[in-house]
Amino acid sequence: MILIIKQEFDQLEVDNLINELVEYSIPHNLVHVYGKTLIHSEASYKDKILALNQSSIIERLVPSGSEYIFASRAFKPEQTIIDVKGIGIGDPNYVNIIAGPCSVENENQLLLTANELRRHNIKFIRGGAHKPRTSPYSFQGLGTKGLQIIREIADDNDLRIITEVIDTTLIDEVCKYADVLQVGSRNMQNYYFLKELAKTDKPILLKRGMYSKVEEWLLAAEYILSSGNAKVILCERGIRTFDNLLRNTMDIAAIPLVKSLSHLPVIADPSHGTGMRNLVTPLAGASIAAGADGVMIEVHPNPELALSDGEQSLYLEQLDSFIQHTSAIAAAVNKKLDTSINYKYNLK
Ligand code: PEP
Ligand code: MN
Repeated sequence: MILIIKQEFDQLEVDNLINELVEYSIPHNLVHVYGKTLIHSEASYKDKILALNQSSIIERLVPSGSEYIFASRAFKPEQTIIDVKGIGIGDPNYVNIIAGPCSVENENQLLLTANELRRHNIKFIRGGAHKPRTSPYSFQGLGTKGLQIIREIADDNDLRIITEVIDTTLIDEVCKYADVLQVGSRNMQNYYFLKELAKTDKPILLKRGMYSKVEEWLLAAEYILSSGNAKVILCERGIRTFDNLLRNTMDIAAIPLVKSLSHLPVIADPSHGTGMRNLVTPLAGASIAAGADGVMIEVHPNPELALSDGEQSLYLEQLDSFIQHTSAIAAAVNKKLDTSINYKYNLK
């Protein structure tokens, strides 16, 4: 249950309310989000709360139950745009393009990739330094070294970094290097982790769990929002279905559905969504046509030798046709790619 405090509250009155909650041992958590002050508590305490002396500063009580509140359009009708070093994610006029390897492997791989991204005026690079691999014997990522490589090369090329955090013990370290923290599909329902991540001020790209319903995905976003971090970007990356020809089934319908239910930006990841290189560009186009705010794809200078996800990574040379296709689809829905935003490279 959420208690929304009246806008014209007095800090002293909020403090008094909190003191009363403490005095009567009522569990609570104070949150400031989207310019509002809110307190969560448990629904079973409703009558006790309404009987408090300070209850008059409560504007309304919103039952939470299994529903998400902060993530909903009902709570915040206007689209959320998240500023990442001067580029908005979720801006209705633009489609964000995020590209890079699955894993950071070495400096040369990232240099070749960044050069190509820059040639296309791409603003965001992706690349994991800690990899959540299905097998413990697969490449697990370069760790700190990988973060250092991607940061240095991103700075030289004015790129913003999206990289995954796989565990609470790594949050502080990844925050030193990343511009956007990625929560992987396998961690979407790790609620303790989500609450810890929400303590940072970084934008969080929340991938959909591979077995998660749309509502569960929005509730995972709600964990982050209700813990005080309002900068959540949702990412559809395909779900497991009975089909076994593709790695996952890209749930294109989820894109306009989530856009109607939530104000949060929604991006699509057709690389993991399909697992097949030749399907990445068409599915990126389909996602944009369906209303995605951006697409994130894997690219690699030499996919045959990639240490992870080579079969779904575009060759760098394929970026030309990828950009051509996606910009045409974006134009058809009255948008431009963010690669059309001009800015000066901030070279060292
Ligand atoms: C990734 O982006 O490389 C990744 C591991 O994605 P997911 O969590 O969607 O499998
Ligand atoms: Mn990958």
